[in-house]
Amino acid sequence: MAYKLNKKLSSLKPYDPITGEYKIRLDANESFINVGDKMSDNLAKAIAEIPLNRYPDPYASRLVKEFANLYNIDKDCVTAGNGSDELISIIAGCFLEKADKVLTFTPDFTMYDFYSHLYELEVVTIEKNRNLEIDVDAAISYINRHNIKAIMLSNPCNPTSIGLAREKALQLVKGVDSLIILDEAYMDFWDESLIDIATEFDNLILLRTCSKAIGLASLRLGFAVANPKLTRALRAAKSPYNVNGISQAMGKIILKDREFIQQGIKEIIQSRDALYNGLKPICDKSDKIIKIFETRTNFIFIKTDYAKEIYDKLLLMSIAIRKMGGYLRISCGNTEENEKVIDAFSRILS
Ligand SMILES: *Cc1c(COP(=O)(O)O)cnc(C)c1O
Repeated sequence: MAYKLNKKLSSLKPYDPITGEYKIRLDANESFINVGDKMSDNLAKAIAEIPLNRYPDPYASRLVKEFANLYNIDKDCVTAGNGSDELISIIAGCFLEKADKVLTFTPDFTMYDFYSHLYELEVVTIEKNRNLEIDVDAAISYINRHNIKAIMLSNPCNPTSIGLAREKALQLVKGVDSLIILDEAYMDFWDESLIDIATEFDNLILLRTCSKAIGLASLRLGFAVANPKLTRALRAAKSPYNVNGISQAMGKIILKDREFIQQGIKEIIQSRDALYNGLKPICDKSDKIIKIFETRTNFIFIKTDYAKEIYDKLLLMSIAIRKMGGYLRISCGNTEENEKVIDAFSRILS
């Protein structure tokens, strides 16, 4: 008898990011800023001192302390993850039980649905409105009528780049008994975070990542902020050495360098605005573009019925962006990269 994969695995496809050699990579919302030479030297020294034969700190305590210092929160309410992606997986797998209902809004970050399916949860989706906003009143009423166990959402949202104001996010958290997984992966680019009060609620897990604004996608560092009871459960449920020693050592040093982080965020926001301001008049003039959305993140979201055509033409010019159904998502890059993208759009759409 041959071994057969179960149904959920046999229909699963491995994650397939763009892998070709493209000169300009604006497809993954990474930061275009790498650490400088001086920082690189410091990091190399720190790595050389790691006892590689020993397991790392299971709770990444010193890293967590630097994260908590940076955001001025209590370190005892923070759990480190191997990217926030791992934390989403742990929450879906451990805080919920088979067939529990998880609510997501669409469009939103696809990993919420992915992990929910993997853990055999029932995913219920609410469509966002035409402006890709969430109607919080309607959502609360729906959630309370349908026995929803958890709600996962990103704010500001990937891929829409739209933000939910702090008051609205707060209304959602207070309006339901369900567990809210509030993914603030891009909140360093906006100022409507709930991170300062996240631990006051018994139903909120707030997620942050070092992969976007802080520019450390390669290290895989994410954090969950939640009250002590939820934090205890998260720490108990995660695998013991989930954040490797090299990432802990490097992350700790970089999170301490506020100047690097603040300056980086400033540059990324400037870049994002330059990209938006360059694309906006071109998009507004073109009848192939339905809408270019205002952005609270480090990327631009565009609605168009010609997404595939534009995407393919950009690839031919060695520019990689993301195509998602009838939408395009373009991460901001350095000045030269942005100019090339704007120029390419202008040529493709004229
Ligand atoms: C990029 C992203 C993540 C993943 O972050 P990692 O820490 O790199 O795993 C999580 N949520 C959203 C909304 C993202 O866009």
